[in-house]
Amino acid sequence: MLSVQHRFARILTTAVHEVSLATSVLDTVERLVAGGVIETVRVAVGELSAVEPELLAFAWEAVVSGTRHQHSRLEVDWIPARQTCPRCRVEVQRSPGQWHFSCERCGSPLAIEGGYEMDIMEVTFRQAAPEAED
Ligand SMILES: [Zn+2]
Repeated sequence: MLSVQHRFARILTTAVHEVSLATSVLDTVERLVAGGVIETVRVAVGELSAVEPELLAFAWEAVVSGTRHQHSRLEVDWIPARQTCPRCRVEVQRSPGQWHFSCERCGSPLAIEGGYEMDIMEVTFRQAAPEAED
């Protein structure tokens, strides 16, 4: 119990954003499963959403700890932003965190598409046993 509190305290000081997101994902999913027990939640997190996937998964563990969903897992699909040239209509190859200023072929400024996702994609759950688990 102490270690959970310790971890939660650490999260609170480092990842307030992720904790509040995890809390709101839990609120939404709890309404969705209507009394069921959550097994996995898969969320899409965009590169530009300012969410750290690892911190979000960690925040989830803290948020569900002590609830009937405490064995559930949060899976994060990382969605990179895409840089495209509006003139050549091609997508520029890039690594995460690496940005290009202009198209290598024609020099046009590049457009950015996507990367702001923060969506609940899939939820698995089971019906709660008739007698309460804890
Ligand atoms: Zn171009």
